[in-house]
Amino acid sequence: MLEAMDKEYVLGTYARNYVNFTHGKNATLFDSEGKEYIDFTSGIGVVSVGHGNKRVADAIYDQAQKIIHISNLFSIEPQAKLAKKLVDLSGFSMQCFFANSGAEANEGAIKIARKYGEEDGKIKRYKIITLESSFHGRTISSLKATGQTDMHATYFGPYPDGFVYAKDLEDIPNHIDEHTVGVMIELIQGEGGVHAFDIQQIQDLAKNLKKQNLLLIVDEVQTGVFRTGDFLASQTYNIEPDIITLAKGVGGGVPIGVVMTRLKDLLKAGDHGSTFGGNYLSCRAALEVLDILEESANKGVIQKNIETLEKKLEKTVKDFPKLFENTSGVGLIRGIGARSADIQGAVIKATFEKGVLVLKAGKNRVRFLPPLTITTAEIEAGFERLYHALETL
Ligand SMILES: *Cc1c(COP(=O)(O)O)cnc(C)c1O
Repeated sequence: MLEAMDKEYVLGTYARNYVNFTHGKNATLFDSEGKEYIDFTSGIGVVSVGHGNKRVADAIYDQAQKIIHISNLFSIEPQAKLAKKLVDLSGFSMQCFFANSGAEANEGAIKIARKYGEEDGKIKRYKIITLESSFHGRTISSLKATGQTDMHATYFGPYPDGFVYAKDLEDIPNHIDEHTVGVMIELIQGEGGVHAFDIQQIQDLAKNLKKQNLLLIVDEVQTGVFRTGDFLASQTYNIEPDIITLAKGVGGGVPIGVVMTRLKDLLKAGDHGSTFGGNYLSCRAALEVLDILEESANKGVIQKNIETLEKKLEKTVKDFPKLFENTSGVGLIRGIGARSADIQGAVIKATFEKGVLVLKAGKNRVRFLPPLTITTAEIEAGFERLYHALETL
């Protein structure tokens, strides 16, 4: 029924799994047949405070009864409060722009960078260097910014100019020319394969870019909002980017994207905008999400989850050497490297059948992005089922 309706009326842009989830509690999900799942995906890093979170639901309900949306033609109290909260948590001297998704946040970042590269009313420096295995979104510009060139289908062209791809961090300087305005990177590549860059190399890159008056744009759409244990991965890496983008974990599932920048006075009224961006509903939800996560971090809950998950993943790789070769990632963005793409696919399928949700990343990695509020009992239940699944392979 659901499958037939979906196939008839929804564009087939996703390779979907036909399960009908009806409700959830924290990292546990239930489908219409009553089957229970442990969710190690949090809806791809979005449901940072878990499913069915009562505090977020109450905040949304309270806000929805008052004002959901009024447009950015007026000041919006929850938006100003959220901007302050994000800036305070970052420890940086920045301002925020609110969008509705990761791709839209990156579009904003690209516009800021291009205006920064303007001289005498013309864009002089406009090129942004990104990495070959990066992922920055699905809109035309953010897709072109994505360095995985096999995603640049010719039938979507022509694409905008101004994006060049470096093989890796060491290759970045080879692509800098007089038209370069900055570099956009993920500190821990998510979709590209849960690859965490070396801290020293990132700090060196940040230093060198600053010296050359080039912008460092950090795409924290997946790594931000306590995913690494710190509020930002930029804090984990101890760098101060010029522009940071956020989205996935910010609203606990309510769509919201953020551009944070230290270039406070660059964009003027009319330069950029978004009808829905930063409305009452999403900002109120995000404020509640941040309160919950800040409390979890302060109580040591997130750190404990990080340690528990890390140990479990290391043990899994050791216990199933025929399937896996290594672990990767930081905090609660983690991966285990399957020995082949076939194994990756088989693991995801088998774990799903046993009631565990995991994600793929890159060509052969199995990715774990649990809600940050997952309980130890949920982690343990998830790994027990994961082991049952792996034993069948
Ligand atoms: C998911 C993701 C995006 C795109 O976010 P959307 O909300 O799907 O537009 C961009 N960058 C990174 C690093 C992501 O993980």
